[in-house]
Amino acid sequence: MTRKKKIIIAGPCSVKSELELYNTARQIYNYIDIFRCGVWKARTNPKSYKGSGNKTIGWLNSVSKEFNLPIAIEVGLPSHIEIALKHNIKIFWIGARTTVNPFYINEICQAIKGSNVEIWIKNPIHADVNAWIGAIERFSQIGIKKIKAIHRGFFNFYESKYRNSPKWHLVDELKIKIPNIDIICDPSHICGNTFLLKSVSKKAINRGMNGLMIETHCQPNKALSDANQQINPQELKKLIKEIY
Ligand code: PEP
Ligand code: MN
Repeated sequence: MTRKKKIIIAGPCSVKSELELYNTARQIYNYIDIFRCGVWKARTNPKSYKGSGNKTIGWLNSVSKEFNLPIAIEVGLPSHIEIALKHNIKIFWIGARTTVNPFYINEICQAIKGSNVEIWIKNPIHADVNAWIGAIERFSQIGIKKIKAIHRGFFNFYESKYRNSPKWHLVDELKIKIPNIDIICDPSHICGNTFLLKSVSKKAINRGMNGLMIETHCQPNKALSDANQQINPQELKKLIKEIY
C-alpha cells in the first residue's frame, strides 16, 4: 500500500501589506503544497487588527501566479465567498468561531452551492464533536466533494501549556464517524507559541493525520495577529525536515 502524501499548508495568520505577503511566499513556496492567509480576521477584541480585507485577495492572486501555489483563505460570511469566487480562490476554511454556528454555516453553504471548491472545517472552539460533524455534513449535503477537517485544538477550561488543547480522541472519533475524511492538524493554534510546535506536529503525523497547517510569517515579531505562534521561513524549512 502506498502511503498517502502528507500535505503542508503554510502562510501568515494575516498580513498588513503586499510586500509582507510576497516576502513570506517567496521564501516558503518551495516547501509547501498550499499557501494560507487570513483576509478578514474574526478577532475576539474589537480593537484588534482585523486583517487587510478585500485588497488581500488581489495580493494573493499575484502570489498564486508568481509561485504557482494554490491559495486557501478563511471565510465567515457569504460576502467573503462571493468576493473570493470572483477572484478565482478555490480553497476555503471555516474558522473555529464559525463552525459552531449552524446559521452561518447554512448561509455560507448557500453562497458556495454549485461551485467546484474545496472546504476545510476547523473544529469548533469547544469540545463538541457533533458540531464539527454537523458543519461537515452541511457542506457534504450541498454537494461539496472535497472536504477536509482541521484539528486546531479546543478551549481550555483549566490552565494549560497549550493555547487550545489538542484532543486526539475527538480526532479519532471524527475519523470513525467519517472514515474517508482527511484530517489536517493546525499545531500553531493548538500551541499558541513556537516552542511546542515540533512535538505537536510530530504527534499529529505519527497518529496518521494527513498534513499540517503552520502559520509562517517573514517577520513573526512584526505580525499584527498571532505574533507569538508564527515561525519564520527558515524555521518552517527546519520543522518540515525534522518531521517528514
Ligand atoms: C486562523 O487560522 O488564522 C484562525 C483564526 O484560526 P481559528 O479559527 O482556528 O482560530
Ligand atoms: Mn492565526
